[in-house]
Amino acid sequence: MARSITYITGSQLLSVKRRPNIAVVDVRDEERNYDGHIAGSLHYASDTFLDKIPSLIEAAKDKDTLVFHCALSQVRGPKCARRLAEYLAEVKEETGIKNIMVLERGYNGWEASGRPVCRCTETPCKGE
Ligand SMILES: [Zn+2]
Repeated sequence: MARSITYITGSQLLSVKRRPNIAVVDVRDEERNYDGHIAGSLHYASDTFLDKIPSLIEAAKDKDTLVFHCALSQVRGPKCARRLAEYLAEVKEETGIKNIMVLERGYNGWEASGRPVCRCTETPCKGE
């Protein structure tokens, strides 16, 4: 049984995102390059997501909560979150990941609500 995926709102995420146990995972594709991003978020584009799951697990090894989003969090974000949950259920690897969440309304909702965005071009983003 894959674990269930829960949703988090932008305001909830804003209040917890600086906690060291949380990673924000942006699965947008090339839009990230010109639309800005949530500071400190990891980028794992949805089109290559499956192949990069082991690298994501490595990058998030000290995190227990991963918050996925795409532009609207309607298709790619929930899909990648589900893929990760299925992967973890399959490999039964001890990863420390306890919560898999999706950011409601995605990056577009985050930005439209006036929440802080980062426009750096560094990979990974070092913002905040
Ligand atoms: Zn940045």
